[in-house]
Amino acid sequence: KQRFPNEPEYIQAVTQVLGTIEEEYNKHPEFDRANLIERLCIPDRVIEFRVSWVDDKGNVQTNMGYRVQHNNVIGPYKGGLRFHKSVNLGILKFLAFEQTFKNSLTTLPMGGGKGGSDFSPRGKSDAEVMRFCQAFMTELYRHIGPDEDVPAGDIGVGGREVAYMFGMYKKLTHQWNGILTGKGLEFGGSLIRPEATGYGNVYFLVNMLKTRNIDIKGKTVLVSGSGNVAQYTIEKCIELGAKVVTCSDSDGYIYDPDGITREKLDYIMELKNIERGRIREYAEEYGVKYVEGAKPWFEKADIALPSATQNEINEEAAKALVANGVIAVSEGANMPTTPEAIKVFQDAKILYSPGKAANAGGVAVSGLEMTQNSERLSWSREEVDAKLHDIMNDIHANCVKYGTEADGYINYVKGANVAGFLKVAKAMMAQGIV
Ligand code: NDP
Repeated sequence: KQRFPNEPEYIQAVTQVLGTIEEEYNKHPEFDRANLIERLCIPDRVIEFRVSWVDDKGNVQTNMGYRVQHNNVIGPYKGGLRFHKSVNLGILKFLAFEQTFKNSLTTLPMGGGKGGSDFSPRGKSDAEVMRFCQAFMTELYRHIGPDEDVPAGDIGVGGREVAYMFGMYKKLTHQWNGILTGKGLEFGGSLIRPEATGYGNVYFLVNMLKTRNIDIKGKTVLVSGSGNVAQYTIEKCIELGAKVVTCSDSDGYIYDPDGITREKLDYIMELKNIERGRIREYAEEYGVKYVEGAKPWFEKADIALPSATQNEINEEAAKALVANGVIAVSEGANMPTTPEAIKVFQDAKILYSPGKAANAGGVAVSGLEMTQNSERLSWSREEVDAKLHDIMNDIHANCVKYGTEADGYINYVKGANVAGFLKVAKAMMAQGIV
């Protein structure tokens, strides 16, 4: 806290992990002698740079660019790029820190990193987005490589942005490498990668519900966000017979009491991915409620799947969810629940899983994309989906193993943190003081 006083999200993420691994850590005095905590909390490397690009009016714009290479003991740095006006170093450090443990949980050989820019694609033309992505890559390409650091998408970085950055990387290096994941299917992308985070979160949720013999079918679900993660979360919920009644964007949320159907989801995908419109238009199209400037957590439902951004469920929202009878909260987004809100869920003994476990399906399939690129092979949809399923089952089993408390309650936060930490810690110990 003294070293990084201006990075509240980073301190929040570190505090949460340290608060849950203490018991396990104390069993290993060798970790303490090796000053493992400080070495694990401070990123290996932070790269910060200026990105200059020309807008459609011919004016030169500047943005900040970052890559945080957090830890690479178990594999090359791996983690998304976020383009959003709120991006700063503290947020990327929190995301890179979380990513290290998440990637450890996936069972695949990937280290943790995260990067991005305070550039917002919102309201920009296609040509402006392309010029920005190209300018961003003219600096980033020096710091990444297929065995060094392999970025992917995150908020504001989808297939379009990944493709523009990939094109520039290729141009600069004369190399075709699987340097980014989330690529188009025509040039090394993996089937199921766009779906992976949302599908993976629902697979994890189904596992959680099973521990209490609850079926997802017929359950009412609140989803936040309407981007990549939210869309495929909704798709899988529909497929499994659940009814999703909300989704949102940074302006507000819609409430559809009849549930978002396949046809309505197609509308959302077209609206958000192609027309780049606002979710309020859904309310106009289908004649349902739209609430400006609010989040969906005060609506009644059985399950909540936050899939927008960090700290979107505060204590008040958590209390409302519990009072309204929610049985499970599973995080598609990274750190969407504040520490006070987590306490509300855990005190109420509802099923609650943190993003580093529940949303690990995205990076897991990114890892599978790296494998396919190395092999120069493409696996079928069924093959990738089956592997995603297996990985989410393994993560769930690890959470149960390390997180089950004396009264039988599964503390998924503790389980995920301990399982993720132990693997990284052991690898760090084995590799010496470097
Ligand atoms: P997208 O950019 O595709 O979608 C983000 C959605 O969240 C949009 O609807 C956006 O609204 C909304 N949103 C963004 N910021 C805010 C905010 N400050 N307040 C309210 N709403 C906001 O991103 P993704 O779906 O990829 O990412 C969503 C979350 O999932 C993030 O936390 C990300 O880190 C996490 N995640 C993503 C993975 C992936 O594979 N993509 C993997 C693991 C985690 P608007 O359109 O108005 O900007």
